[in-house]
Amino acid sequence: MTTWVYETNGEYFADFLFRSQIDSVPSSRQIPLSLVATGRGSEWSDALHEMAVLHLARRLIAAAVSIVSRMPDWDFLVEREIKQMILDTMTIDYFVVNEIYERLTPAVRSARQNISNGVRNQLEGEARRSMSWCYLCGTDLDFEADVPTVFTLDHVWPRAFGGDSDPENLLPACRSCNERKANVPSWALYPVQALVSGYHLDATDIAEIPKEMRFAVQGRAARDHARRQGTSLKEAFIAMGRPDLPSVIDLSTSVDVFNLSPQSR
Ligand SMILES: [Zn+2]
Repeated sequence: MTTWVYETNGEYFADFLFRSQIDSVPSSRQIPLSLVATGRGSEWSDALHEMAVLHLARRLIAAAVSIVSRMPDWDFLVEREIKQMILDTMTIDYFVVNEIYERLTPAVRSARQNISNGVRNQLEGEARRSMSWCYLCGTDLDFEADVPTVFTLDHVWPRAFGGDSDPENLLPACRSCNERKANVPSWALYPVQALVSGYHLDATDIAEIPKEMRFAVQGRAARDHARRQGTSLKEAFIAMGRPDLPSVIDLSTSVDVFNLSPQSR
């Protein structure tokens, strides 16, 4: 979670929590010790820490959104209540609260923002012209009928995690995938993929892997690509191209079980 190009307030907030090493799951640093012998101890450690951070980010944002939504203005009363919520949620010293509040509020504003009609029209037009497929499953999008493959816009960094409703954070997705992905930052599931890779998978096995798991593999590939190339997550998904039907590329790696390698790699 450290070096890709951030486009949303939620990414900055999660990154802040990640770097500041404040989370409410201290055991996330100890569990992986038992995995040292596997050679994957530090990978697991980082992954578990990141999952704890994402979980915390979402809880803080959701609670703050709820507070803001039932008050008429974002005034000092709101500020006081959000700071109290932060203290109730996290195990921290009082002097840290202001810093967390300052980082949290932009993510809360993003989480409350809807996609404007202007942005929707602009991106639908672009999709019709140049990218008329779902970036998650590759299916052709329908722009007219109300069917599962109908065009929707998916927040690459989920809105509930402070993902902005700006073009830089939105990609065309079918309604089916959009609903299934919901508010899961898909790469957060990627350690599961590392477990799966220990088994021999044939094409039938892979075809039966649930969609959420494919999102996880895809999300991981996009994140790694974005880090390597210094791009945003959206740019990484675009660079990876249209997802293919599940197929085996190289079972010796845990990443490329599906045809998700960027061509440039
Ligand atoms: Zn789809």
